[in-house]
Amino acid sequence: MQKIIFATGNAGKMREIRMILSDLRIQGSPAEILSMKEAGIIEDIEENGRSFVENAVIKAKAAANAPGGQGAVVLADDSGLEIDYLNKEPGIYSARYLGEDTSYHEKNGNLLKRLEGVPLKERTARFVCAIACVLPDGQVLTEQATVEGWIGYEEKGANGFGYDPIFIVPAYERSTAELTEEEKNEISHRGKALRAMKEQIERYYEK
Ligand code: IMP
Repeated sequence: MQKIIFATGNAGKMREIRMILSDLRIQGSPAEILSMKEAGIIEDIEENGRSFVENAVIKAKAAANAPGGQGAVVLADDSGLEIDYLNKEPGIYSARYLGEDTSYHEKNGNLLKRLEGVPLKERTARFVCAIACVLPDGQVLTEQATVEGWIGYEEKGANGFGYDPIFIVPAYERSTAELTEEEKNEISHRGKALRAMKEQIERYYEK
């Protein structure tokens, strides 16, 4: 069975990935989907790229070259929140915004404060997700997808993670923290990028 390794230590992302890739077939057979840990890869990967795609490629290549990564299809993602009024901050620094150890309640509160008095039409924002895939022959595939929305006026909802409580999606007029996991996967940046990547991988193996 072809091994697919997803280079993340985030359990939430792994659950989403297993759900979306569950019907992926490689040359007619299901694939074995493993986290980095399950594949025995212990890499501390530095994200020093200048874009989401660059960072995803850095992570996927590092895991593919690590012991445990050989012969596998290795995937990695990089994602974040871009707020137009703040010149696309926090962007690729979303996880590091105000420091890795600062709570998201504080990060969200800080962003809401920076947007105080800003009218709705100027509060546009998007979640971005880039996915990179390193194939066993070394070929690299990439995808990037977004979900457009706006920044609300207060934190709402208890689902999801990170900036979800302040990000409102127009389709629901609710924050992504108020959506169920299924509703979020359907419209999310990560869901869209993963489904597109799944199709690219299937096309590659059909050739
Ligand atoms: P990554 O794990 O390096 O891709 O960092 C992504 C960071 O962007 C996360 O730590 C969150 O702060 C933010 N982020 C990305 N996707 C989402 C999402 O779906 N909801 C909320 N925050 C997100």
